[in-house]
Amino acid sequence: MSAGRYAPSPSGDLHVGNLRTALLAWLWARHSGRDFLIRIEDLDRVRAGAEQRQLDDLRALGLDWDGSPVRQSERLGLYEAAIARLRDEGRVYECFCTRREILDAPTAPHHPPGAYPGTCRDLTEAQRAERRAERPAALRLRSEIATFTVQDAIHGTYEGAVDDFVLRRGDGVPAYNLAVVVDDAGQGIGQVVRGDDLLASAPRQAYLATLLGATPPTYVHVPLALNGAGQRLAKRDGAVTYAELREAGVDVFALITDSLGLTGASPRELLESFDPAQLPKQPWVFEPPVSSG
Ligand code: GLU
Repeated sequence: MSAGRYAPSPSGDLHVGNLRTALLAWLWARHSGRDFLIRIEDLDRVRAGAEQRQLDDLRALGLDWDGSPVRQSERLGLYEAAIARLRDEGRVYECFCTRREILDAPTAPHHPPGAYPGTCRDLTEAQRAERRAERPAALRLRSEIATFTVQDAIHGTYEGAVDDFVLRRGDGVPAYNLAVVVDDAGQGIGQVVRGDDLLASAPRQAYLATLLGATPPTYVHVPLALNGAGQRLAKRDGAVTYAELREAGVDVFALITDSLGLTGASPRELLESFDPAQLPKQPWVFEPPVSSG
């Protein structure tokens, strides 16, 4: 049986919207009889102490997980092996473009907005040698398709753009889109529950999974938490973390379960009546109490 997972980035504390997504990922996994794994996505922007506080907050919410959390920073060899495999198959090329150059490049009609325009796709070896002297290359996937379709439990059949996305950044760090696919495949993840801000990335990731010989997971992209102004909830909105809300006298578990229309005093209790079809399909608007700090 495949597993479900929650994969936080330890760039800061989780806010109540992140905790809500974590609870949903746990419910979805346990409801379908799956193991539930935690993966720390620490390839980027790590804040001291954040990983421990995130795990403490997930535990405080009553979540449990199978095995120890894995850290992406300890799996670099796996990402490099995947890149080597794709490289051997001729699916990788070096890219020397800066962000500015990509933004300024004319977009071809068959490229969706924001897609990499393919500037470095067909450089000659001599051109590459010249550009290498300027800056370290990023590695991009030589994608053979323009769109890919995934199945999502909330969004149904979803087709989205697949461009020549980055596999390894110019600074040598594996890109999120590569690491997430290598890990989901390697850890036996068959169900990915996460915020719907990542829905548009799912086709790229599912396509890459197929290139690496894996079956793409079933996706469940859940609505995000928004602030009163309709923007994605953030730390600056006031008391939004577990600790801040407790400080303000809020029962965080009850707040989250109310927002989901669920009743029960613990995640296990929620499972008894959990029905994925009944979950809200709209974003959750949360107006945090203004924190004194
Ligand atoms: N680490 C990502 C985040 O915290 C989530 C990635 C994923 O679930 O695929 O936003």
